[in-house]
Amino acid sequence: MRTPIIAGNWKMNTTLPQALALARAMKESLEAIPQVESVLCPPFISLAAIRDLLQGSPIRLGAQNMYFQEKGAFTGETSPAMLQGLCHYVILGHSERRHIFGETDELVNQKVKAALTFGLKPILCAGEVLAEREAGKTREVVTRQVRGGLAGVKDPDGLVVAYEPVWAIGTGRAATTGDAQEVIGHIRHLLAEVFGPPAAQAIRIQYGGSVTRENTASFLREPDIDGALVGGASLRAEEFVSIVEQARAIKNP
Ligand code: PEP
Repeated sequence: MRTPIIAGNWKMNTTLPQALALARAMKESLEAIPQVESVLCPPFISLAAIRDLLQGSPIRLGAQNMYFQEKGAFTGETSPAMLQGLCHYVILGHSERRHIFGETDELVNQKVKAALTFGLKPILCAGEVLAEREAGKTREVVTRQVRGGLAGVKDPDGLVVAYEPVWAIGTGRAATTGDAQEVIGHIRHLLAEVFGPPAAQAIRIQYGGSVTRENTASFLREPDIDGALVGGASLRAEEFVSIVEQARAIKNP
């Protein structure tokens, strides 16, 4: 019912030539798996060139962040108007933005609303740090981030949510599939409270945090996990294609 979605967050990796080479190395194989929505999120500097490379392709392009204002004196920032027409998705509230750059739920919320206004599909990230998990606060934190990020949003069309426990990102220590399903089921319940059950059933929710070709299948077999937000493994063309292929096999048997 929900099209699986695998997004690759390249983070602050790849120069322009490297980004083009990586996209080229995946392009044909990903295009051969149209049952899964593949999203590449390279650094801003490479978006335009990869957009040109992907002209006419079903592969989607995403940005890793943006500011909420349309234009103005915000040195170094990128606006939704600049991304409109350049990419389809934008990752918002990634834990590295929250914890390294101090982004708050309120700022993430302004970005989500701006993205939707400009026709960009937000991938809203939420997840607890290790101390919060150990204190039994996972649901509380995720509830605050999801409700906070979506405050005032009326129409969630195009919205994707990514559950990314912070302690699992880039550490090689993924969540257990049971824990991931439990939190993601809770997120779907929250979405039903905010937007109503039919809309919540249509929203795709990803798991992110040390996803690899080895553990992908176990996550995607869970009923509420519709895809993955992949960091490190998305920089390896063959591995990213394998993750997308496994999503096809599991979600479209
Ligand atoms: C991420 O960047 O969102 C991520 C989940 O990274 P990794 O897959 O490397 O843990």
